[in-house]
Amino acid sequence: MAKIAIDLKSGSIKKEDNLIVGIDLGTTNSLVAYIQDEQPVIVRDAEGRSGLVPSLIYFASDTEVMVGDAARSHLVDDPGRTIFSVKRLMGKSFSDLVDYTHQLGYQILQDDKDRLVKIRIGDTFYTPIELSAHILRELKKRVESELDRTVDKAVITVPAYFNDAQRQATRDAGRLAGLDVLRIVNEPTAASLAYGIGLSREDSKTVAVYDLGGGTFDISILRIEDGVFEVIATNGDTFLGGDDLDQAIVSHWKDQFELQINSASEGQVLRLEAERAKKALSASLDFSGHFGSVPVSLSRSEFEVLIQPMIAKTMICCQAAMKDARLDPQSINEVIMVGGSTRIPYVKNTVSQYFGRPVHCEFDPDEVVAAGAAIQADILAGNRKDLLLLDITPLSLGIETVGGLMDVIIPRNTKVPCGYARQYTTSVDGQKNLKIGVFQGERDLVANNRKLAEFILSDIPPMPAGIPKLEIRFQLNADGILQVVAKELRSGTSQSIMVKPQYGIDEEEMGRMLLDSIRHAEEDMQQKALAEARNEGNMMVQSAGKFILQNKAWLSPEEVAQIEDLALQLSNAIEEDSKDIIQTRIESLNAFTTPLAHKALEVHVAGAMKGQAIK
Ligand code: AMP
Repeated sequence: MAKIAIDLKSGSIKKEDNLIVGIDLGTTNSLVAYIQDEQPVIVRDAEGRSGLVPSLIYFASDTEVMVGDAARSHLVDDPGRTIFSVKRLMGKSFSDLVDYTHQLGYQILQDDKDRLVKIRIGDTFYTPIELSAHILRELKKRVESELDRTVDKAVITVPAYFNDAQRQATRDAGRLAGLDVLRIVNEPTAASLAYGIGLSREDSKTVAVYDLGGGTFDISILRIEDGVFEVIATNGDTFLGGDDLDQAIVSHWKDQFELQINSASEGQVLRLEAERAKKALSASLDFSGHFGSVPVSLSRSEFEVLIQPMIAKTMICCQAAMKDARLDPQSINEVIMVGGSTRIPYVKNTVSQYFGRPVHCEFDPDEVVAAGAAIQADILAGNRKDLLLLDITPLSLGIETVGGLMDVIIPRNTKVPCGYARQYTTSVDGQKNLKIGVFQGERDLVANNRKLAEFILSDIPPMPAGIPKLEIRFQLNADGILQVVAKELRSGTSQSIMVKPQYGIDEEEMGRMLLDSIRHAEEDMQQKALAEARNEGNMMVQSAGKFILQNKAWLSPEEVAQIEDLALQLSNAIEEDSKDIIQTRIESLNAFTTPLAHKALEVHVAGAMKGQAIK
């Protein structure tokens, strides 16, 4: 494997730097760990207590950002500027999140339904990548201050079910935070490594990882063979976790002790007391506390009755995962518990009973994923000589998309051989030819990457923009030969090309490309955001024109003039360099045309019912 180390301070490329940290970037909490004397060490707060950094970001102003505990109190006093659960937004479009946005105190843009979401804070628009980068910067700062040195390489964990877009978003967030992300690792894989499972080549095992956190539940079934971890099934509930158990206690107490909640902050106080009870009951059999002047109490057996339905739900997910994996519970060799809520004895017992074996809970369930990420990082750093590293591709491979953007199809550090396909469409009506530029590198704009090849897919039957289904498939074989196949799926037209990405490039050059991608991460991402805003703006201007043409029969002259004016303002903004102004104008045009679009639909339906054709 090509192993390159970069010193970001001096900019030099070093052959020897074996520190790579492991990061658990969680929905509620995040952690960073590193390896010392072959053991994972979790980086803790200044008092040396908790390693958990709450995944919270508060924008006091556009330039003053607080992360972690410092942001917590603002969840209540300034919810519109306090971001939580950003992990749920990574790699998602508005239509993916439509049922969820009402639960957030901050504003998610509702316009570009199929593109990646943006979050509005004041007059600035952020991507989940930029927000996650703030959390990663905080973790980087923590580990740097503990070790008194620069840290610029990391392994970051993600849930096993994360798709390509979510993984790429996580990589981009790392890069923006100044971290070279050597690998994205599945959380259950990291948890297994923390327990030493899969560390030796001879290990051949089937492992279940039960992860019950604050807000989510995941079960993953892994098959480990020859040092390779394969996720064979996952299941879970993205809205089930410790918070729901707290709520169950709150409802129970409200009924039992006839509690009156008069304000949101009183509700918060009661919720915190319920969480205190829950945590206490993991160690003792009874809890007594109070809410204002009212004493409240709960026994462990009462608590178990309350949470039974929720834990039963997690077990149904386990059964479904086992069914997908075509396994029975006896064929699982190891069961690993992850997430703060697995400290509850009832949870441990229920899971242990189902799998018919004791569960692994020797490590702190909040820390095992970060610890495992640090172990994976140490393996990648080449510090564990006994472990062979697999062949990987050292630089990302992708194609040019509208606006000169690089769309990565095979991310760097992917094990070879491998094959990935992605679908695209056209942006112009009647487009017959499509130029496919194949690039290598880590920068967001293809102009800064290395061009490997270019070819044209011709003879696409003329169709309106957005209708053709163009599949681009990248197949990288064990000899490092890349085959790119472009196919229009509706007509079957296809074209392909072969290239050798490593031809004519040495380690030094690769190191320089990696270094550039981190050094320029901030400006690259700004340029990318601007290019994306321009693409979106151009599409809006085009559809506004089409909308006027198709509906001029009933639109009033004032409405037409207003759409034209808003579209012109948007066109003017596209010529300038501010993505926020473009976004604001998109919003304005969208706000004006959305009710008209609904009306257009009604007019069309009414017309169709009368049997008239409307053009
Ligand atoms: P995580 O998302 O993995 O950090 O899990 C946090 C969840 O674990 C929260 O719902 C906490 O209330 C819960 N938790 C933490 N400690 C305990 C404990 N001792 N017993 C029960 N639940 C706990």
